[in-house]
Amino acid sequence: MSTGLVAGRTALVTGAAQGIGLAIARCLHHNGAKVALVDLDGDRVREAAADLGTGVLPLACDVTDEHAVDTTIRQVIEEFGALDIQVNNAGITRDASLRKMTAADFDAVVNVHLKGTWLGVRAASAVMREAGRGSIVNISSLSGKSGNPGQTNYSAAKAGIVGLTKSAAKELAHKGVRVNAVQPGLIRTAMTEAMPPEIFAEREADIPMKRAGEPAEVAGAALFLASNLSSYMTGAVLEVGGGRFM
Ligand code: NAP
Repeated sequence: MSTGLVAGRTALVTGAAQGIGLAIARCLHHNGAKVALVDLDGDRVREAAADLGTGVLPLACDVTDEHAVDTTIRQVIEEFGALDIQVNNAGITRDASLRKMTAADFDAVVNVHLKGTWLGVRAASAVMREAGRGSIVNISSLSGKSGNPGQTNYSAAKAGIVGLTKSAAKELAHKGVRVNAVQPGLIRTAMTEAMPPEIFAEREADIPMKRAGEPAEVAGAALFLASNLSSYMTGAVLEVGGGRFM
């Protein structure tokens, strides 16, 4: 019998081929859950899942595609028999100043983060409310709390995820389904490694802990919210930012 904080549970993590999503999938798996790893690119997500061992299900899915999201959740239920934990993590950036950002950049970012999260919450909660239990964790960002120059699209989407989380939490609390969010600060992944090194260093210098976080440090917060350790928490937003914006 598996042991761990989420032993015997089944989880789905989006954007799980790399970075924070992969760290969350690994952490949930390490703590006893069966995990579906979902990402755009089937080959990359299969490779990532193979690394975790047994009790994993790699699935290609675009989180902005309503039909694909619903189908993916059905596949997880067929394979694992249940869905107890859903982590909506997939994300992109299209940073530019307001002068240079196109409407297409705005739409792309809002689609993946906000619509993608909404589709994930809607589909997962439909299953969870029937089961009378479940935990949904949405990955927002401190950028949605504080705003960041060059990220009007991203900050808007990440702030929107907070409102969506709280509304869904209120709708679903009496059905035994909890919905919470995590707001990571600067975390070392491909997304932030694309930043010019001097900007990365400037951001790090602003953090009271004086360093960027690691994906595994965000995964710890997601595990807490996914597990019974947080059984009396819903609609909460956990900041994982090394003390930034307290
Ligand atoms: P990442 O390394 O770029 O990983 C994001 C993953 O999501 C990639 O595998 C990406 O696939 C996938 N993805 C993108 N669009 C998708 C779609 N439409 N459907 C399914 N999968 C999709 O980013 P990360 O840094 O780990 O970020 C993970 C989450 O944390 C994001 O929501 C991000 O906004 C949030 N976050 C990150 C930081 C940070 O400092 N890194 C801080 C705060 C919040 P492709 O590579 O093929 O696009």
